[in-house]
Amino acid sequence: MYINGEWINKDNTFAVFNPATNEQIGTVADADDADISAAIEAANTAFASWSATTAYERAALLYKAHGLMLARKRELAELMTREQGKPLKAALNEVGYGADFLLWFAEEAKRMYGETIPSARANQRFWVRQHPVGVVGAITPWNYPISMITRKLAPAVAAGCTIVLKPAEATPLCAQAMFEIFHEAGFPPGVVNLITKQDPKPVGEAFCTHPLVKKITFTGSTPVGKYLSGLAGGHLKRVSMELGGHAPAIVFNDMDPVHAAKGLSLVKFLNTGQACISPNRIFVQRDIIEPFLAEMSNRIARLKAGNGMEEGISIGPLINQAAIDKVAGQVDDAVAKGARLMQGGERLFAGEADRGHFYAPTLLADVTPDMRIYREETFGPVAPVIPFDDEEEVLAMANDTHYGLAAYVYTEKLSRAIRMFEGLRFGIIGINDINPTSAAAPFGGMNESGLGREGAREGLLEYLETKLGGVAV
Ligand code: ADP
Repeated sequence: MYINGEWINKDNTFAVFNPATNEQIGTVADADDADISAAIEAANTAFASWSATTAYERAALLYKAHGLMLARKRELAELMTREQGKPLKAALNEVGYGADFLLWFAEEAKRMYGETIPSARANQRFWVRQHPVGVVGAITPWNYPISMITRKLAPAVAAGCTIVLKPAEATPLCAQAMFEIFHEAGFPPGVVNLITKQDPKPVGEAFCTHPLVKKITFTGSTPVGKYLSGLAGGHLKRVSMELGGHAPAIVFNDMDPVHAAKGLSLVKFLNTGQACISPNRIFVQRDIIEPFLAEMSNRIARLKAGNGMEEGISIGPLINQAAIDKVAGQVDDAVAKGARLMQGGERLFAGEADRGHFYAPTLLADVTPDMRIYREETFGPVAPVIPFDDEEEVLAMANDTHYGLAAYVYTEKLSRAIRMFEGLRFGIIGINDINPTSAAAPFGGMNESGLGREGAREGLLEYLETKLGGVAV
């Protein structure tokens, strides 16, 4: 753990495993309540001086951390592949994406503009400024174990906040490697703190109830996000929540089905489907569905599953047995209710002790609303395809979910693209675009997919309070 500028070892530790091989790859400190309090108190003490630094000083440290991250890109990516399982190429991309947040918020720190507001009274002046909210408690997930750290930490410290971060218990080594970078970059003691703990509950409770923590930022599942928001609400703490999704992808018949299948097979199997923006319902207009399925099927048949350190692997392991059970349960339920299994549908390397939790990339056709996969987030390598007939119908089907994170549309018609953009109740909409994410663009969901936005100008505002000054002259 890293508290108040010092690395802390503990006698109590927990083990970290490689999900591709089941090998133990390390152990990390298991925090107790006193460690959590110490980290929060250190962050609170540091806040007094850190919040008084200039944006230029804060930016200089973020630039430094950005440079160190790029210099260690390969090392970080290899660690990520070992700890989380994604193929090395995907891990390299994630390190780049993660570094982008340090750079973006180093720049954005300098643009925390205020404003003056005309008063109705001749002898009164108003001005408005932004101030950092204070100590931030951050909880990050295992699926993007480096970029989710920088997406929270960079805007928090750019705004002048201090932070205590708890990474997912499956991926604490990536977090340690990042905090080595922050240490080397020279952040003053207490500005950035890392707590590792196998049981996340006491950390969540401390962040939501401790009087010195002013804001909780969380990325993870919707049930945990609701629980933490409720707890934080009781203490009136600010929250940012990036939660689950059930992304629709809509392919209209004015589009080349082969081109759409290429894009959707790439985004669906990214990170082995373990992404909150992964398409979970692929709606294809009925008259182009067979060529679409044929192309998807060919592409999926060529995907190779295995250890992400090996060349040519594009399907890594799922994170644990529970993930396998969930995916297999949804696929079996769909097949039992009449879905057509066109690829996959089975666990891979089952019974091989030195292989982790692999599930074959799977294509399901004829999926219907009564199947679990139509409503439940999958978080695995399964592409469910559903036919539709017209635009109005598919818009209603796409919006028929309590989630609202990402949606994808394939169409060549400008007017239809605009209608879909306006009609879809999702926070991120990719139109003929499978990669609508960037440090410069606001990421976040509507409905039960979350509260607030990360990245972009909005990402900085999440860590700022508005202060009004009124002066009689
Ligand atoms: P996932 O299904 O992606 O693992 P979780 O929401 O369980 O999603 O985990 C995301 C993050 O939330 C992890 O860092 C995990 O340790 C943490 N977490 C899980 N349960 C709780 C909880 N009750 N309180 C605080 N943090 C939690």
